[in-house]
Amino acid sequence: MTQEISKADRDFFVVLLKEEAREAIWKVGASVEPQVLVDSIIEELQGLAPRTDGSETRSEEEIWSQVRERLLKAAYETRPYCIKCGTCCMEGSPTLTTEDWDLLRADVLKPENLMTVRKGEPTYDSRTQQTGPAAQEMLKIREQPGTRTCLFYDGWSKRCSIYEDRPVQCRRQECWNPEPAQSADDTPLTRHDLFRSVGELLDVIERHEERCSYEELSMVMARLAATKGQTVEDIVEMLRYDQHVRDFLQGKLGLDPEAMELFLGRPLRKAIESYGLRVEDQPDGSFLVTAIEGDSEK
Ligand code: SF4
Ligand code: SF4
Repeated sequence: MTQEISKADRDFFVVLLKEEAREAIWKVGASVEPQVLVDSIIEELQGLAPRTDGSETRSEEEIWSQVRERLLKAAYETRPYCIKCGTCCMEGSPTLTTEDWDLLRADVLKPENLMTVRKGEPTYDSRTQQTGPAAQEMLKIREQPGTRTCLFYDGWSKRCSIYEDRPVQCRRQECWNPEPAQSADDTPLTRHDLFRSVGELLDVIERHEERCSYEELSMVMARLAATKGQTVEDIVEMLRYDQHVRDFLQGKLGLDPEAMELFLGRPLRKAIESYGLRVEDQPDGSFLVTAIEGDSEK
């Protein structure tokens, strides 16, 4: 059955369309007029309009979401360059590639600016906007506490403090391009690349990885759940070892405590919080592991 659209409905639709165009332009930081943007893709927008012959299966929300997506793409097409808005800098810090080695050599990036995301560690991917286990080890610029904002982003001046020397991933960031070019040279930089000439440190890192890997941690946690807390000593032993290695690197090798997240990744005591557990330090130097929610001690 064909349904006629009244002039009032059509006018209302045009007004809404202009508002959506205005929103897309604002989001993207473009300077085109809303009507010009709408006119530039009018045929495609007409193609997205609700079908009036009774065959429409999309909900109103789905239709508007398609319209918004198309307007956003068109707005980006009018602004195909970086305006240094900083949005991508607040959605996660860059992962370093082997090409970024030079930034470390030039002292633009220092060990205390970096962190290691170890294989298997839950991590947020700003491209897919999902959290999942890291498929491989990655070195990243640290993020500002409690946020996903890159350490080098200054929210006050809305600037990157190392813009001229920013890592490769930032240089390739093209928010206006839904399919940015991937390079075969995007090999992630690893601790092995950085420390292969520092034999003792690499040995310590490898031993730590053997005993405190995320794979081992998830097995220990599964065992803990299966035994209803009876095997808590296994997790305490891992925590002790993780702490011992951090103390050793600082005390015996004199390494910078601020750079520990590069050498060994996040402390294990932080990592187990994602399993709903918390570590409390006891006066005698031992650990007490408790559940974050509820009051049942493990
Ligand atoms: S690349 Fe990043 S900083 Fe540049 S315009 Fe896009 S979101 Fe903003
Ligand atoms: S290094 Fe600079 S450009 Fe890259 S995410 Fe950090 S603040 Fe943004």
